Amino acid sequence: MLYIDGEWRGASSGSSFEVINPATGDPIGDVADGTREDVVQAIDAAAEAFGSWSRLTAFQRSGYLYRAYELMMERKEAIARLMTEEQGKPLKAARNEVQYAADFFLWYAEEAKRVYGEILPAPRSDQRFMVLRQPVGVVAAITPWNYPVSMITRKVAPALAAGCTIVLKPAEQTPLCAMEVFNAIHDAGIPAGVANLVPTSDPVPVGEEMVTNKKVAKITFTGSTEVGTMLAGRAAASMKRLSLELGGHAPFVVFDDADPVYAAKGASLVKFLNTGQACISPNRMYVHKSISSEFLGVLEERVAKMKAGNGLEEGISIGPLVDSPSLEKVDRQVKDAVAKGAELRIGGSRLTDDGLDRGFFYAPTVFAGVRPEMEIYTNETFGPVAPVIEFENEAEVIELANDTTYGLAAYVYTNDLGRGMRMFERLDYGIIGINDINPTAAAAPFGGTKYSGIGREGGKEGIAEYLETKLGGFSI
Ligand code: NAP
Repeated sequence: MLYIDGEWRGASSGSSFEVINPATGDPIGDVADGTREDVVQAIDAAAEAFGSWSRLTAFQRSGYLYRAYELMMERKEAIARLMTEEQGKPLKAARNEVQYAADFFLWYAEEAKRVYGEILPAPRSDQRFMVLRQPVGVVAAITPWNYPVSMITRKVAPALAAGCTIVLKPAEQTPLCAMEVFNAIHDAGIPAGVANLVPTSDPVPVGEEMVTNKKVAKITFTGSTEVGTMLAGRAAASMKRLSLELGGHAPFVVFDDADPVYAAKGASLVKFLNTGQACISPNRMYVHKSISSEFLGVLEERVAKMKAGNGLEEGISIGPLVDSPSLEKVDRQVKDAVAKGAELRIGGSRLTDDGLDRGFFYAPTVFAGVRPEMEIYTNETFGPVAPVIEFENEAEVIELANDTTYGLAAYVYTNDLGRGMRMFERLDYGIIGINDINPTAAAAPFGGTKYSGIGREGGKEGIAEYLETKLGGFSI
């Protein structure tokens, strides 16, 4: 269903599209298929609601966001189960995501009250300067399927806290999760038109309307670098504000002063999280030559114990890939690496036994001896493949790690404090985990450099993305 101007309704075309469980291939729902006409109506509703919503006090907006947080928490288990069915991640990971997603409502319920202005020193004695931070206006948002709830709240919560109104297009693979977030928004009593949802199976006309409609002041997009750069180009013509959270190709560096067993444990946990379908998933594991054999041994051992299957079942750590094109992409990169001489340590093929052929399962895979000419070395894999590369010294590995067009996340394992600090400063990425595989939280700024995007989500930075700065000069 579409959620426009406070009401759930069908699409103007009357058509709908099917949602599939990627673990079983079974249909799990039909969703109204939004059109360009629908998104125009949603933008009109958001523009209409902007005046009254932006003029509420921060305390009033905060109250609504607290309520949305409480509702998400009350519904945590049901939303997590739906997420596992719709997106495929194991139930435990889905619960974690709902918590992370709800945290954005809580954090921005608090940050709504901390949007301060400033009084500045003026050059004349009869002059006063005052700075206001005001909401940018109507926001159009587009989100991906891999974190189908948190990628939505990470945008909606700060936008609403700032006083903006929003129209959101979720990924076509995960509209049911998106509807759950908007159910919470509706039930929290957030006024009609403030937040609107337009699922669609055809993103092109809907996206085109969002980036060209003059009532839209800002585009916020999370997804691939390819689509993000295209949308940014189109949005430039009407001078829209932009936030882009795009692809990544994270290095994972393990120095010889680190414990290879502990580092391999971290590598296995972060690489195979969400079956490798994460923008901050390690794509190149640089391991010091002197410890690479021990690191690979432990990584391989841990991977061998991972169980793939339907995430609603106990003991599953590897869910399916989201769809058949994703499966084909991973398989193509794996075959390319094998053909170019990488050493396949474990995995390397689609999983089809015990009914897994009904879904899109790929074996967790580890490669040693990965080299720059392999596709996997430069292109984002978005799948359960760990490529290991040996290195010999710090200067060399900094250069190798930074040698990419992406700049989202990087990880370092070291027990040398100075080295940790040098890596933190010299790696050209927006997020650096030093002996830490989860450097994310609602309170922390998330985002990338270079082709990984523009702007930050989360933290105090996340709300600033939805605010305009206004200067007032007063002669007295
Ligand atoms: P995608 O293909 O770029 O899709 C993302 C969103 O854009 C979806 O809602 C998609 O709609 C929509 N879209 C696609 N083509 C469009 C167009 N021409 N006009 C308007 N909208 C369009 O990316 P994805 O495969 O879903 O997501 C994976 C990518 O997201 C990876 O590169 C990953 O690194 C990145 N990501 C980044 C972050 C971050 O915070 N930096 C977080 C999560 C994911 P449809 O679903 O209908 O195609």
